[in-house]
Amino acid sequence: MKFDLEGQVAIVTGAARGIGKSTALLLARNGASVILDDVSESSLRSAVNEITSLGGIALPVRADVSDPEDVRTLVSSAANRFGRIDILVNNAGIPSPYEPIQKLDLKTWQHILDVNLRGPALCTREVSKIMIPRHYGRIVNVSSIFGEFAGIVGSVSYVVSKAAIIGFTKNAALELGPKGINVTAVTPGFVETEMTEYLSSDQKSRVLRQIPVGRFATPEEIASVICFLASPEASYMNGSIVDVHGGRSEYSLEPLD
Ligand code: NAD
Repeated sequence: MKFDLEGQVAIVTGAARGIGKSTALLLARNGASVILDDVSESSLRSAVNEITSLGGIALPVRADVSDPEDVRTLVSSAANRFGRIDILVNNAGIPSPYEPIQKLDLKTWQHILDVNLRGPALCTREVSKIMIPRHYGRIVNVSSIFGEFAGIVGSVSYVVSKAAIIGFTKNAALELGPKGINVTAVTPGFVETEMTEYLSSDQKSRVLRQIPVGRFATPEEIASVICFLASPEASYMNGSIVDVHGGRSEYSLEPLD
């Protein structure tokens, strides 16, 4: 797949591994200079090395997306180094531990929402200040099929955070669309990353029976949709919530403990 991102500058959060890393690699392969953010500094460095060894331009920034000061540093590092920001991919996210509603711990609830919801809001706020004067931008949020039309027993904080990202996307699209910035979201189903490693083989085979294509997605298959949404070619995609789930619209997961 080839998109013309030559000369463009992209920030990808949670880019040290999984979907974020694949997205950073694909954006770089298509010509963008990429700022890779993560809290995990060592794996961030190896992701950056992978891009530079392919001849791409990549800058690592260790920033916690839930921390306003870290996010300001992330965005100003990108703007100072490259003079512009065209693309933001709000990918960083964490799952919740198994926690039935009647045992909901508010510290966990807050932490999940801080990373999965406040993080994208902070990054969007800071990046939009740079994008608005140039009247151009693409912001792609990573939600989940579970925030759209299914829940996960024992994971209410994660599901609420991913559902809220859909509302955030639609509102940001409404506000930023007239300023030349398109805001969209992807809702992946199950993807082969560390986030789904906790599934037992029994749970995995039950889930697989419900996915028409018969397998989980690779991170690259999510990255290619994100890359399209981040490209100039997606010029009429705004407020769009794009499903990437192999054909199944509802999953019935049993408790995961
Ligand atoms: P992953 O755990 O492999 O990668 C997430 C990355 O985010 C890690 O490198 C982690 O260090 C980083 N991160 C965590 N907290 C951070 C913070 N506060 N600031 C900056 N970086 C932080 O997960 P993944 O599967 O690649 O998930 C990426 C996104 O896709 C997440 O938002 C996740 O909710 C979403 N998603 C994943 C799946 C799936 O099946 N894997 C399905 C739907 C949606």
